Amino acid sequence: LTTADPVDEHRICVCVRKRPLNKKETSLKDLDVITIPSKDVVMVHEPKQKVDLTRYLENQTFRFDYAFDDTASNEMVYRFTALPLVETVFEGGMATCFAYGQTGSGKTHTMGGDFSGRNQDCSKGIYALAARDVFLMLKKPSYKKLELEVYATFFEIYSGKVKDGKQQVQVVGLQEREVRSVEDVLKLIEMGNSCRTSGQTSANAHSSRSHAVFQIILRKKGKLHGKFSLIDLAGNERGADTSSADRQTRLEGAEINKSLLALKECIRALGRNKPHTPFRASKLTQVLRDSFIGENSRTCMIATISPGMGSCENTLNTLRYANRVKEL
Ligand code: ADP
Ligand code: MG
Repeated sequence: LTTADPVDEHRICVCVRKRPLNKKETSLKDLDVITIPSKDVVMVHEPKQKVDLTRYLENQTFRFDYAFDDTASNEMVYRFTALPLVETVFEGGMATCFAYGQTGSGKTHTMGGDFSGRNQDCSKGIYALAARDVFLMLKKPSYKKLELEVYATFFEIYSGKVKDGKQQVQVVGLQEREVRSVEDVLKLIEMGNSCRTSGQTSANAHSSRSHAVFQIILRKKGKLHGKFSLIDLAGNERGADTSSADRQTRLEGAEINKSLLALKECIRALGRNKPHTPFRASKLTQVLRDSFIGENSRTCMIATISPGMGSCENTLNTLRYANRVKEL
């Protein structure tokens, strides 16, 4: 009999963030079926019906490192998720922070800030907050003497048709460039985001099918010192699109499903200090290879959930996935 390796709590943090009911849900009288009774517990109250048609609520409880309710600000979420990872990167480690969840649950709001509507503001998302603190940390005497240079890049990974009509996973975006201030980073995020959505009929339609990756890279005399990858994942409901009538949608769905499964396995391997990390299983995990194999790698997952009864099934899928990431 062998005992399973204990999960390295220090390396992996899994959190959940619930967003408020939106106008549409409120106008449709959708019910909020999620409660967060304490700072690490999420309860789902799923409406069910017995054979005799009487209705009841089935309560399911999940525990995470942190659970943020709909009053939590980005700054608050950031403080418990990505902020500790900024230090990891300065200490010469690799850090990743993922937003995982259904389309419309708040991934982009959390990571990128507000890209919807006219007044785009990416200064309050986790990308920008992390960049802010990187430039603050750089001034600390202990880090200042390392003479680190800061680089950033923003790209996306998606499965699309290439010229000859073949389906292929593509990595498209901005080249890594040196950044000297938060303003430089904000410009880069805005640019990356406009590249992301240009030529698309609907910004959300595209972003729900692609993984967006923002990276802050620290170099010392040109050599890699540490890397922080912040990822706004494709909508996890897309991974279930494998029986769609549309071939393109089906292929995309299969690819997203594959990458999210591979991601889960890579994080699990990291948490168990396993020698074998299955990063080759998808483009997403290949691109993030460095992040899963180093001695000093840390990961945080923010699972975003919609509060509505109408999203219950997707919400449960999200919570189960997030739960598995840390399970033995
Ligand atoms: P996703 O990227 O997961 O598809 P979005 O981040 O685009 O979802 O969020 C969908 C909508 O809900 C957006 O209009 C966004 O501004 C809003 N929203 C998301 N999370 C929150 C939150 N925590 N508080 C307020 N509004 C939110
Ligand atoms: Mg989004």
